[in-house]
Formats: sequence, structure tokens, C-alpha cells
Amino acid sequence: MQEQFLELDPPERILMGPGPSNVHPRVLKAMSLPVIGHLDPCFIGIMHEVMDLLKSVFQTSNDFTLPISGTGSAGMEASLCNAIEPGDEAVICVNGFFSDRMADIAERCGGRPTIVEGEWGHAIDVNKVESALKQTKAKVVAVVHAETSTGAMNPVKEISELAQKQGALLLVDTVTSLGGMPLKVDEWGIDICYSGTQKCLGCPPGMAPITFSERAMEAVRNRKTKVQSLYLDLGLLDTYWGEKSAYHHTAPISMVYAVREALRLVLEEGLEARFKRHQLNHTALVAGLEAMGLNILPGKDERLWTLNAVVIPEGVDDAKVRNRLLEEYSIEIGGGLGVLKGKLWRVGLMGYTSSRSNVLLFLSALETILCSEGLNIERGAASQAVSAVYG
Ligand SMILES: *Cc1c(COP(=O)(O)O)cnc(C)c1O
Repeated sequence: MQEQFLELDPPERILMGPGPSNVHPRVLKAMSLPVIGHLDPCFIGIMHEVMDLLKSVFQTSNDFTLPISGTGSAGMEASLCNAIEPGDEAVICVNGFFSDRMADIAERCGGRPTIVEGEWGHAIDVNKVESALKQTKAKVVAVVHAETSTGAMNPVKEISELAQKQGALLLVDTVTSLGGMPLKVDEWGIDICYSGTQKCLGCPPGMAPITFSERAMEAVRNRKTKVQSLYLDLGLLDTYWGEKSAYHHTAPISMVYAVREALRLVLEEGLEARFKRHQLNHTALVAGLEAMGLNILPGKDERLWTLNAVVIPEGVDDAKVRNRLLEEYSIEIGGGLGVLKGKLWRVGLMGYTSSRSNVLLFLSALETILCSEGLNIERGAASQAVSAVYG
């Protein structure tokens, strides 16, 4: 038995794909602490601390702010299945893989989604959202802030103004922006917001931070039908995480420790400083890629700092390059999703992964590989462009 199944020894990777990103060592250390009972007064204290930390990172005063047990997708499912009941109209902005999923879930909840379609790789057109809102009695407007499948950012603030005019609840996916790019839940008028731990928070996959405004909670309380998911019913979750601390499910204790430490790290660095770090490393990476003659899919002012969508040059073997990065340099990047499969490399600079050393290592590895694959690249140009950005 022991000879067949050796002790686990996964390789050390630089996780520069669309997630998970590298986990901060302090988060891993927190996860190795003793597991205690989920109704232990000490653990309940920890849960309340996590809720407070999360409010600061979401920049909200919403009472209902907590991490859901489950990955980012559980946050998406919880947001939609609590907000939408059978017959409800919703306007859903679809310009990528993840927003497409929001429309799918809204339908599964019995909702009647109106899709505002946008080009993959570009921000959604606000005028289209406005006209869709005029033609419906939408209870919810949903948009993905940072579309990880395309590297494009959507104009949440502008969409928020439109939603408010119509009295609709604004639901925003911030899985690839929370902790990496500016996001102000209260100031921007976001009613429902969810994220994930594995992207810009430097934590393993496993939980989904979520926040509902009082207005959104009221809509949940006024539902005519029960939320079809018992596990993701916010009313029940509220009695578990709130003052009553009544059993609902067993919180993943070690993940809650991890989230607490990850959020502490975010606030220790400072939100503004953390966003600046993500912006700087993104700017340097793009400068290097462009110096090598590569193109970024989204336009300059609609790019994410956390996920860079690089157009694969003509004649280059997508899978071969990604395999070589992994095997020769232990660097993971992502391929394209859906219609962008084979056309795009997705290079993440999220959370703990977003560092100058990772940018430099990745660019020099890519330069070496592309040159040996026969691409005509001026050697050293990327490194010069990057130095100019870092100064
Ligand atoms: C990764 C991601 C999700 C899903 O998160 P999982 O942790 O994979 O369940 C949802 N939305 C966006 C924008 C994402 O990038």
C-alpha cells in the first residue's frame, strides 16, 4: 500500500493562469492550525471577525456579508437563486463565459432573462443595457465586473446608475476583481456582490465571499416561493453566521482560517497599495508583451489588471507553448475558453502571484520559447520595456 501511494509531493508552480493563483505562505500556515468545532464559541468569534474583515474589503456596511461554503460558482448560484424567483425578469449582460453562465442559472431559477449581448473581449455597451431596461420590468440587472474569460472589464458604475433609475437590484460578479482592482460596493450602488477566494485574495479555492444590501435582503424576505436550494438559502445562512449561530451546515473550518488570514493580508497591505501593485505589474507585463510584438485582446481602457488576454500569434502552437512553460519553467497559464479557444492565452497576475519577479520570469521564459518555436522576436526588447515601467 505504502509503496503504491507515496506521500503527496505536488510540484511548486507559478500559477499565472485564470485561477487558482498562488497562495500566500501565511494563509497556508493558518490552514494547518487545529480544527475546532464549528459551534465552538472560539470559532463563532472567528466567523464574526471574518464578516467584519470582509466588509472592509468589499467596502460595504451591509450586515449580510460572509463567505459561502463553495467556490466562486457557489457565490454566483447563491446570488441568483436568492434574488430571482419563478417569473422574475432580469437583464443579464453577456460578453463572456461567466456572464453566459449567469443567464443559464437565472433560467434554471425560473427567471425570464433578457440578454444584453456584447462582443467577447470588450466592455459591454451601456446604451444597449439602457434600452433593454426600458423594455422590461427587470427585478435584477446582472453583470460580471472582471470577465476572466476575455480579460475585459465592464462599466459597473455606469450600469449601476441605469439600474437605480429603474429600481432594479444590481448584481455583480467580482470573482476576478475583489482584492485586485478597485471595487466599492456601497459607493457604486451594488446590491448583490459575490467573489471567490482563489483569484485575487491569495487563498485556495473553497469559499465565495458574498454581500447583500438591505434592499436586496428585503427582496429575498419578500419572496413568494422558497429558495430552491436549502444549502444556499441566505435566510438560513443568516441564522448560522448571525447572532443565533444555529446549525445549518458545517463551515469548512480550515478554509475560514485561510480566508481570515488572506483578508488580514489584504488590509495590512492596504487596498489602494494592493490595487496599485496589480496595476503596475499588469502595465509592465503588457509593455513586455507588446515589445515582443504580441497583442492584448481588450482595448487599452477596458483591460483587467488581474487577467491579461494575449492573442496567440499566427502559426504558434497554443498547447505546445503552454506545455513548455509548465514543464520547463513550472509556470501555468490558461488557454482560451468557448469561442476564444485556441486564440488566446490567459495570463493571470492575481493576489500573491502579482509580483515583479513573476512578470520578469514569465516574459523571459516566453521569449525563449517563442524564439525556439521560430517566431522572429527581438531578444531583450521585452526586458528593456519592462525596466522602463518599473524605473
Ligand atoms: C473563476 C470565476 C468564477 C467561478 O469560480 P470557481 O471558483 O471556479 O467556482 C466565476 N466568475 C468569474 C468571473 C470567474 O473568474
